[in-house]
Amino acid sequence: MTTEPLVRLDGVMVHFGGVKAVDGVTFTLERGSLCGVVGPNGSGKTTLINAMSGISPATGGRIEFLGSDTTRSSPFALARLGLRRTFQSIRLLPELDVLANVALGADSGGGQYDGLLRPRRSRTNERRTREQALAALDRVGLVHLARHRPTDLPYGHQRMIEIARAVVSEPEVLLLDEPVAGMSGEERRQVADLLISLRADGMTQMLVEHDLGLVTRICDHLVALDHGQVIADGDPLTVMNDSSVREAYLGP
Ligand code: ADP
Repeated sequence: MTTEPLVRLDGVMVHFGGVKAVDGVTFTLERGSLCGVVGPNGSGKTTLINAMSGISPATGGRIEFLGSDTTRSSPFALARLGLRRTFQSIRLLPELDVLANVALGADSGGGQYDGLLRPRRSRTNERRTREQALAALDRVGLVHLARHRPTDLPYGHQRMIEIARAVVSEPEVLLLDEPVAGMSGEERRQVADLLISLRADGMTQMLVEHDLGLVTRICDHLVALDHGQVIADGDPLTVMNDSSVREAYLGP
């Protein structure tokens, strides 16, 4: 029996006027896999994540998620389907404590809202959300910091809290934009272990990352971009040894 890919990109384009940031990208994310997307600066990696998460919609081609056409779906609709992402820059709310920041991720948009940040919850839902947020914090090893303000914590902790917020709802697919940027070696190892354990739980992940050692070590599958196009796609060692990938990084 063959299983359908969880996400299918077919000729995806994101053009900004004359700038072809993503220019005909085709690949699939297999269910339960950890896929790395690599490429030099400006090759279109973040724009691709933005298109897949509905933030900067594709201007051409097709994106399918769980068999549905999500090419022009909003971030809200994609969240309801079970897609989560993290951003390159930290986006925690400084006025909320760590637990409340993580709990925000538990509201997939399925609930009823009084306002943007005030989901109308029953007490049972509130208790469940709190338990889920504590479990997500435990998973990233930071449950002891639940009542701290995120801005009082080191940068590496803040990044882990963002990952906790993204995984608290146990999404079908998680898109990570340079999750280990600016982290120490030990923190990078912790993130790598976390992504491996999420994969063991069946979570499909796509990781945009500059740390080529890390992606080669933990990913099942790599896609290399250059000038908005796929230049190699396959198992990590083959992709990293591909001559066009070496040339894109090092020059001819
Ligand atoms: P990467 O993440 O691989 O560094 P990006 O996706 O950020 O690459 O950018 C790809 C290309 O698209 C770059 O040339 C960048 O300048 C351009 N680009 C990205 N966003 C915009 C935008 N909103 N308007 C115009 N050009 C953009």
